[in-house]
Amino acid sequence: MKNVTLSDQRVREDRPCGSCTMCCKLIGIGEPINSPAGSWCKECEIGSGCKIYEARPEECRTFYCSWKFGLGTTRPDKSKVVIGVVSLKHAMIFLDVGRSDALRKTEFKTILEALRRKRIEKITVVCGSKRENFNLKKPIEDLMRSAI
Ligand code: SF4
Ligand code: SF4
Repeated sequence: MKNVTLSDQRVREDRPCGSCTMCCKLIGIGEPINSPAGSWCKECEIGSGCKIYEARPEECRTFYCSWKFGLGTTRPDKSKVVIGVVSLKHAMIFLDVGRSDALRKTEFKTILEALRRKRIEKITVVCGSKRENFNLKKPIEDLMRSAI
């Protein structure tokens, strides 16, 4: 997944990935890895890191989830939510299968409000093979009620 860094975003040094490898499960990776969203990438040492770190594809090299930029307080391996900004107006939210409850947490509402303040207008929620689009100009509660 291509992601962009908003002008006011800086990767925070106090937010290392550590044992979190959640993006290697929740986000689909294209050629040559071919890993579908919602399944652990075959190159992932779960809870440790990438087995082909030096040779990992460009889309893995350039991805930083929004937590690393300071959005939200709970690291994705605990929240089961990975968020990436794909354009100045569009963010993707990747959920672990069966964890739509994560959308109903108060912290998640705070995150959506922060994205709205950053002028993000469109949210795509991806959960395995399912995806749903939301307009962030509409009430945030609509998105939080999603049963995806
Ligand atoms: S989801 Fe975020 S914190 Fe977790 S491994 Fe990926 S980039 Fe690092
Ligand atoms: S290639 Fe490595 S960094 Fe990329 S998704 Fe797979 S395990 Fe993660």
